[in-house]
Amino acid sequence: MAANSPFVSFVSTSQTMAANSPFDCVLLDLDDTLYPGNTGLGPVLKRNIDEFLVAKLGITAEDAAAMRVELFRSHGSTLAGLIALGHDVHPDEYHSYVHGRLPYDRIAADPQLALVLQSIPQRKVLFTNSDRAHMKRALERLGVDEDIFDDVVCFETMNPHLFGEERVNGDVASERPVVILKPAEDAIMAGLLAAGTDPRRTIFLDDSERNIAAGKALGLRTALDKEKRLSQPYAYVSFVAVGKKVRSKDADYAMESIGSLRLVIPEIWGAIAGEQPELGIEKKGMRSELDSFLRPTTIQA
Ligand SMILES: [Mg+2]
Repeated sequence: MAANSPFVSFVSTSQTMAANSPFDCVLLDLDDTLYPGNTGLGPVLKRNIDEFLVAKLGITAEDAAAMRVELFRSHGSTLAGLIALGHDVHPDEYHSYVHGRLPYDRIAADPQLALVLQSIPQRKVLFTNSDRAHMKRALERLGVDEDIFDDVVCFETMNPHLFGEERVNGDVASERPVVILKPAEDAIMAGLLAAGTDPRRTIFLDDSERNIAAGKALGLRTALDKEKRLSQPYAYVSFVAVGKKVRSKDADYAMESIGSLRLVIPEIWGAIAGEQPELGIEKKGMRSELDSFLRPTTIQA
């Protein structure tokens, strides 16, 4: 890596704790990654989005459901689609309606998760499309202190142009602000810049096949494009599919739940493959054992 790389200046001294590890930073998604995909929040989220569309646009519930699916397909999220189409929707208004009314009590406290995260010696970055208020409530339910993370990349940090005086509401399509979310290139870039290390020494955990596939595809493309700001190929990032029994072609690892992290990727702690690092954590009752019987669902928001 070149000495003037934008990644070098962020390297933390804590990384030296895992001298034998191939990784300097762990990027972690939040929803359906740090907690299981079977909480039932997904269907409620979809219902909330549909109700928002009905209230905001005066359309039928049936049309709202169809619109949600179409906007997710075409723009990556309902909010991104609404803004792209020129609707006057403030992100806070949308998030308080669709996230703020979620039954957060369905996210169970996970003391083992907090211990495992604390034990990761590398830089840890939470990398979520969700808004900050949702992130804080989900972490609170899990019993994970936000301070465990060295940095947070969330909706607000990826989209400062949608807030405050910088906010733009163009009348014509070319002037409308674009919502930046994974798996868009600018979003992946934001995550990697926050990681602050060589992409070859970054590991990225996400339950979304779409995010993982896009990250990998982006890497393959940028590896060939010398004009990109970061010519280091993202393809070198190690991608981890969470909530999956089987590894897809784009993922380097797969695990059914974050509770299996030590078993599946002991290299994070500098242990060799096949060995589970000793962290002083009781294995009995770990969530991974329960999760092996549970199937994840996908949230289309
Ligand atoms: Mg997720």
